[in-house]
Amino acid sequence: MLTRLPVEVMPYRLVEQGREFDGVCDIANLTRIADLIVDKEGTLSVSLSFYRNQSALPALKGQVSGDLTLVCQRCLEPMTLAVDASIDLVFVSSDEKAQSLQGGYETYLVEDSRILINDLIQDEVMLSIPQLMVHDSCEPYKPLIEATSATISQTVLEEKENPFAVLQNLKNPGK
Ligand SMILES: [Zn+2]
Repeated sequence: MLTRLPVEVMPYRLVEQGREFDGVCDIANLTRIADLIVDKEGTLSVSLSFYRNQSALPALKGQVSGDLTLVCQRCLEPMTLAVDASIDLVFVSSDEKAQSLQGGYETYLVEDSRILINDLIQDEVMLSIPQLMVHDSCEPYKPLIEATSATISQTVLEEKENPFAVLQNLKNPGK
């Protein structure tokens, strides 16, 4: 059993061969969503099955699953997203070909007869991340700058109103 997936494949050839892959994808390789990912350790499980579908189109079925630690968009604390994305697509060699397909297939554009497996996996993972990713219940993150500027202006004001505060502090160093 393969644990590492191939980096680059020729999907049409794999379809003819009916090839299947089971392996892992390093989370660190999800470079397009790297900014969202807190913990880049670990892997996602990936299974891929190249085949010709009932309409004789070159197709791919598969699954990407595993846990990603991302940033909550409300409190900015880490949160775990359980990814379980089904891959079900048809390979096309041009956008025109994709548009001419009937049947509502999800299509994947193959340029130069090759694809990068990591690109394909990243597409599927990105689709499975919700638009708004937040904990079920948490408090909004309060930017530090907001809190401190309010506190500072309050302090300045108090000191101006009471010029003796400094003297009193000198007289009572213990306070
Ligand atoms: Zn949160």
